[in-house]
Amino acid sequence: MLDKVVIANRGEIALRILRACREMGIKTVAVHSSADNNLKHVLLADETVCIGPPASAESYLNMPAIISAAEVTDAVAIHPGYGFLSENADFAERVESSGFVFIGPPPDCIRLMGDKVSAIRAMKSAGVPTVPGSDGPLGESSDENLRIARQIGYPIIIKAAAGGGGRGMRVVHSEASLTSAITVTQAEARAGFGDATVYMEKFLDRPRHIEIQVLADNHGNAIHLGERDCSMQRRHQKVIEEAPAPGITEDQRQTIGKRCVQACIDIGYRSAGTFEFLYQDGEFYFIEMNTRLQVEHPVTEMITSVDIVREQLRIASGEPLSVTQDDIEIRGHAIECRINAEDPKTFMPSPGLVQLWHAPGGPGVRMESHIYSGYKVPPFYDSMIGKVITHGNDRPTAIARMRNALSEIVIEGIKTNVPLHQEIFQHAAFQAGGTDIHYLEKRLGL
Ligand code: ADP
Repeated sequence: MLDKVVIANRGEIALRILRACREMGIKTVAVHSSADNNLKHVLLADETVCIGPPASAESYLNMPAIISAAEVTDAVAIHPGYGFLSENADFAERVESSGFVFIGPPPDCIRLMGDKVSAIRAMKSAGVPTVPGSDGPLGESSDENLRIARQIGYPIIIKAAAGGGGRGMRVVHSEASLTSAITVTQAEARAGFGDATVYMEKFLDRPRHIEIQVLADNHGNAIHLGERDCSMQRRHQKVIEEAPAPGITEDQRQTIGKRCVQACIDIGYRSAGTFEFLYQDGEFYFIEMNTRLQVEHPVTEMITSVDIVREQLRIASGEPLSVTQDDIEIRGHAIECRINAEDPKTFMPSPGLVQLWHAPGGPGVRMESHIYSGYKVPPFYDSMIGKVITHGNDRPTAIARMRNALSEIVIEGIKTNVPLHQEIFQHAAFQAGGTDIHYLEKRLGL
């Protein structure tokens, strides 16, 4: 087993990784910015190294500083968490060429899936269903582009191959605006991602976001852990996630899950990963793969009893997966609410001193958060300060437990989106389940 791991992240996910390491007897090194001396995992880690000033570009994105920290502490591996350098193939490569284990997939897989055009091509050839589209980058000829769009049928969406975070996309409703929309998206893609490549796909008008969690080891074993429904979004940011997805049958789960497992084997995938799909009228359409641990991994852990971070650490140390596909059984239902330090109405970030904090509890309640009374939420990073996850034998129980949990949370000093979650949990449409990705914004009148 790995002897010592550098946790190259912050906040709740750094604490999650630290807890898994400690459970497994692995020593930890917390690398942190100068704004994060008081982060909970920094206080708990075996060793700490300050790697730079508050700005992420000079600390959590500072590759040489992170690798030096691994060197000076004699660590053997680096866990990148999510965000920051987690999907940076160059970083993964540098980690490996410096003699450390990157706790994630091989750099080639990150690169392949990081470019949406190559990702879609790879998935098509692996038999994963994709959105009808241009099947490659758009060329110079507007006649040809008009022909492709006509064949797909309007509305269509133009997307940047290198896009991410919901940016670099444009919906086109009719032929009249196609050519100019392509030009504008190419220019934005060049400016935003340094790559002007764009492609076209059918725009689905009321899809749900459903994703499949996979795990693969170095011994040729790959499994899926079923799906999550992350349709409750605002500005392409997930707000609430749940597993299993309401209305998805065991047959559908196994069919799409097997395709994802086969795709992992085809591309030589390793570690944890997520295949993201849009789902509409009973069909799955692949949109992208996240080659890392995800924020919402706990809902899958709750219904499968598989500890995904533990599996990542095992895989990175060369161990086989601790479970087989036949061992995976879905039990009950789990829901996650992301708690952000923000105004629940305006969504403006609300950093500052947490004067008082009481975590929720009770059966089936899991709180993943690094905050504590007296902790100061810095203004430099993402506003997510934790996640509440509830589990029950069925969806109504998970919902009832979440309502309890949300009502028990006491947080003074900063504003949070807890009232927004409480409101959503009152909605009849949410209670019924299966809302599409536009539901929340429409309902909030955004
Ligand atoms: P990113 O990497 O920026 O997250 P994705 O390809 O995952 O980009 O798309 C982000 C979001 O954009 C999706 O969750 C969905 O809301 C919307 N979207 C993307 N492709 C389509 C499509 N073909 N039809 C409808 N909506 C889409």
